[in-house]
Amino acid sequence: MSKAKEYNRLQQLDTSTDTQTARLAAVEESLGQRDAVNAIKSKFERTQAALDEARARQRDLEWELGNTKQKLTRLEKTMYSGSVTNPKELGDMRQESEHLRRRRDQLQDRTLDAMMTVEELEEQAGTQREVWEGAEQAWADEQDDLRTEREALFEELAALRAERQAQASRLGAAGLARYERLRVKKGGLAVVPLQGTLCTGCQLSLPSADVQKVRVDAVVNFCPHCGRILIYGGPA
Ligand SMILES: [Zn+2]
Repeated sequence: MSKAKEYNRLQQLDTSTDTQTARLAAVEESLGQRDAVNAIKSKFERTQAALDEARARQRDLEWELGNTKQKLTRLEKTMYSGSVTNPKELGDMRQESEHLRRRRDQLQDRTLDAMMTVEELEEQAGTQREVWEGAEQAWADEQDDLRTEREALFEELAALRAERQAQASRLGAAGLARYERLRVKKGGLAVVPLQGTLCTGCQLSLPSADVQKVRVDAVVNFCPHCGRILIYGGPA
């Protein structure tokens, strides 16, 4: 293998390592990240709380309605029993009975409204619970996949590290240092293909004599514009 190809192999290993390291960071950030599913869960819980409140309100109204009906029944029984003969007392009773009837009708309407609210909230809570349970399942599956991917990335990175070490030892200390410096200066890319006459690192064209040298590949060639190591990548 030519020296330039040795550098290129090192570059490929480093590029793969950079890519997989970035992916590993993204995977680790997503692991345990529950914000989206928590938001769905909170929505369901808020509806459930509203439903509990609505049910309590319905029970209170039903109790009060029952109470009012009982009072009215007792009052009317007394009124029509003939036991009360005092006109003033009967008049008061009639007035009280009118009041209780109005109250009963009002409570009946409110109870019906409360029942409708309960029904609506039950439906909402049911749908939201299904959405939440689906989201939990999807989240758990995704977490499993992420853990599997993380294990694979660990293994891949370890293999890359081993191969990188072997590859680096094939280059001299000075050559390796030069490569490392170039990589830092050139955004991670020290070695790039020459496509036709074009350096794919800086997108500038090379004179044909330089192109020829890269094709022959007898020595390590550098781009006269950006200074990167060039390997021949085929015609344009
Ligand atoms: Zn260049």
